[in-house]
Amino acid sequence: MADNQTDALIEAINFTQMLRASVTKVFDNLADGFQDSQGNEKALLNEFQKSLLAVNNDFNELERVGNGLYPLSVNSPNSVHLSIDPATDKTPLYSQLIQSYKWSNKAHELAGYVIGPLDQNAKLKRSMLIGSTLQAKKLRRVPPSGHAATTVYVDNIVTRLDQKMPDISMSITRPLGSSAILQVSLGKILKAVVALRGLIIEWVTVKGYQEDLYSEDGKVDLWSQSRYQVFRKVNDSATAATLHFYSPHNAELALQSFLHWFQSYKTLFSAPCSKCGKHYHQGSPPTWRDLRNTDPYHDVCKP
Ligand SMILES: [Zn+2]
Repeated sequence: MADNQTDALIEAINFTQMLRASVTKVFDNLADGFQDSQGNEKALLNEFQKSLLAVNNDFNELERVGNGLYPLSVNSPNSVHLSIDPATDKTPLYSQLIQSYKWSNKAHELAGYVIGPLDQNAKLKRSMLIGSTLQAKKLRRVPPSGHAATTVYVDNIVTRLDQKMPDISMSITRPLGSSAILQVSLGKILKAVVALRGLIIEWVTVKGYQEDLYSEDGKVDLWSQSRYQVFRKVNDSATAATLHFYSPHNAELALQSFLHWFQSYKTLFSAPCSKCGKHYHQGSPPTWRDLRNTDPYHDVCKP
């Protein structure tokens, strides 16, 4: 519809230009006058008549095309033609483009800020995932086995340690099934009962050399305390030491370290305190032994 209208308008403009040209020719001829050099008036008249006919033809054509055009509305004379007007400054396209450009620019900028932290987080997660998997594999590969040592293995270890430590003598009984009870004698100073689960130390009871390790019914007495305060203090130190040397992944070394530390009580009544230099403090010898270098200390002199 719009295209037909446009074509009709262009045709009408062309006919208007042709009409103007033909009319201009007629008036030009009339204004300039006719030069009749050969005395042929009839030929001049014919030519003038042709010019007038051309004006008439052009006018008729223009009128025909003009009748085909839509009449202009009285209320909005030119608004019907706005739809065929391609002027870009009359549409919101430009401002919309600016908005889109600004928005995408800002999104790009913010994405630039975000990529850093997100990348680090992803790397961290990845490394943590790999780390935990490796750790899990490692743990699966080497489960703690100290508690599951066989009786033969425990016997061999105890025999070897007994030979290795001349100040200590040990014997094994198994009154409670497969778990071993070690009876440890340290010179003529003190005795101890060490309850093992596998190779892991679970309980220690320290008593004086002359005290009995057996109860009245002839069984090994794990629970009753020494009647002497000095050995009860040693008992407390030994219990603390079992926690310090606890190592289910390397139970043999843990037991050896504990016994090596325990061996240092052979000087319980002869070594002075490493801090105050006295043998006795409030009637008690140094009952604590340093866990790393086995130096003797009174309870109150502990480093
Ligand atoms: Zn002291």
